[in-house]
Amino acid sequence: MLKTLNPEWKEIPWDRALTAASPNVANSLEKVLAGNDLGLEEGLTLATVEGNDLVALVKVADELRRRTVGDRVTYVVNRNLNFTNVCIVGCAFCGFSRGPDSPDAYFHSTDTLVAKSLEAVKRGATEVCIQGGLPKDLNGYYYVELLRAIKARLPELHVHAYSPMEITYGVEKTRLPLREYLLMLKEAGLGSIPGTAAEILDDTVRKSLSPNKLKVRQWIEVIRTAHSLGIPTTSTMMYGHTELPEHWVKHLLLLREIQKETRGFTEFVPLGFIHSQTRLFQSGGARAGRSEHEDLIVHALARVLLHGYIPNIQVSWVKLGFEQSLACLEAGGNDFGGTLMEESISKTAGANFGEYVSPGEFRALIRTIGRIPVERSTTYGIRKIFDHPDTEERLPLERMPIVAAATNHTPVTADGY
Ligand code: SF4
Repeated sequence: MLKTLNPEWKEIPWDRALTAASPNVANSLEKVLAGNDLGLEEGLTLATVEGNDLVALVKVADELRRRTVGDRVTYVVNRNLNFTNVCIVGCAFCGFSRGPDSPDAYFHSTDTLVAKSLEAVKRGATEVCIQGGLPKDLNGYYYVELLRAIKARLPELHVHAYSPMEITYGVEKTRLPLREYLLMLKEAGLGSIPGTAAEILDDTVRKSLSPNKLKVRQWIEVIRTAHSLGIPTTSTMMYGHTELPEHWVKHLLLLREIQKETRGFTEFVPLGFIHSQTRLFQSGGARAGRSEHEDLIVHALARVLLHGYIPNIQVSWVKLGFEQSLACLEAGGNDFGGTLMEESISKTAGANFGEYVSPGEFRALIRTIGRIPVERSTTYGIRKIFDHPDTEERLPLERMPIVAAATNHTPVTADGY
């Protein structure tokens, strides 16, 4: 039986929490506070904490967040464009994809996507995040043509687009070398790439989730090549399905190794598995999504293991709901993701969240935990610091806990991710 988390954990100072922790947990946390990297064994110890040890982990993660990025909580005003839900990949955890003949299959025209981008900019968006399914007959140049169409009308708009899976598909379809394909996207206006399709970077786990998905080696190759061309990416991890805590640790250490070499990740986004409408869960192949306990561990563990390398840990409000997002912002997180004027992927998998949060609602939520809201660009440039509350700030009417559902194609930058 799991030792429950002290309900007063938010009020406990990090140094007091540390003194109440067991010696091996305290030693690991002191080591990272002193500026040293933690290894696999230490990560494994932290990944299974409970009780006082869990309080120590989240409080030290919160302190590391404060030392790294201060008390600001950033967000980006963006719109998600899920251009099609038709997909041939067949991931067992996906509640979003449809067959081409499904009555609710769609493929938005380029004109519609440009119009949605124009509307987003009119409403203050600085980014569109584009991801979609992989239809069988997709032209491999579709991705570049869509970029060109949007950038022709909106040259200033940041386009955060195409998961490593989609990029691999484009390479396959065009038969161009990966580097050349990415360069073509960059020249057409690609600003950054969502680091989705990562799920868990372990081929055995991936096989059970989606045997047709790109392999770990391919995901890394797309990411490394993008970084080498000056295209930044986010990084993500899907948790709460079939994986074990050791997979979280290995996944995070792998991201840290890549980041040491490339410095191309802007953020890390934990994405809780939203189970209810997925084949994986319905066939008994996965647990019923992440627990609140796991949410705290994963966000805090990310802060601790990535300390010194990836400064931004994003909470996915679409997956977590507002209350749990705020808790994770107090457990190492510092970014609220995007306002997402449209997010149909998590919605169709059964999530309660996923349409739109206004910037004023984001700011009001951030103030409830005593932090300072800051609007940022996709790549973490500061656009505006809101030191004081303004008239647009009001709490969202709905603050219910989330019933989650998920795919890898999630709003990440605010991919999210
Ligand atoms: S997660 Fe993405 S690639 Fe997998 S089935 Fe869903 S839409 Fe297709």
